[in-house]
Amino acid sequence: MSEKQKTFSIIKPDAVASGKAGKILSLLEESGFRIVALRMTKLSQSQAEGFYAVHRERPFYSSLVKFMTEGPVIVMALEREDAVKKLRDVMGATNPANAAEGTVRKLFAESIERNAIHGSDAPETAAEELKFFFNSVELNQL
Ligand code: ATP
Ligand code: MG
Repeated sequence: MSEKQKTFSIIKPDAVASGKAGKILSLLEESGFRIVALRMTKLSQSQAEGFYAVHRERPFYSSLVKFMTEGPVIVMALEREDAVKKLRDVMGATNPANAAEGTVRKLFAESIERNAIHGSDAPETAAEELKFFFNSVELNQL
């Protein structure tokens, strides 16, 4: 049997504001993910800047930070086999115009920026992002 893996995800402000959070959570559960931890929060300016620091030289950075802080988000720890890659698959392409049928972004994203969901892009970033938002009790890692 293959090992379970955890990944980190955010339902972004566009999807929370438009009332799509429940449908996105359903799709994730139907795709084999178990919700390990979940919290609604609002990212501060410095949290959003730090979270997307890898993009700080990109032209869309300040707009992205503004978007990610405009309203509540849902942060979560998700678990399944091959979770990091499987979540990226179910999210769909960054630009919803290029996202495959049935993916979260195809179904729920508004634009390349307002694209409904974040998912960690590698096991190392998943571990860092999970640790930033959840403690070890919440992650069942005592
Ligand atoms: P995320 O990191 O949020 O899971 P991703 O890995 O698919 O998304 P990245 O290239 O890491 O995509 O970009 C981070 C986020 O920045 C995107 O999800 C989107 O919200 C925003 N973004 C990316 N490219 C653009 C762009 N060309 N114009 C506007 N916003 C963009
Ligand atoms: Mg990314």
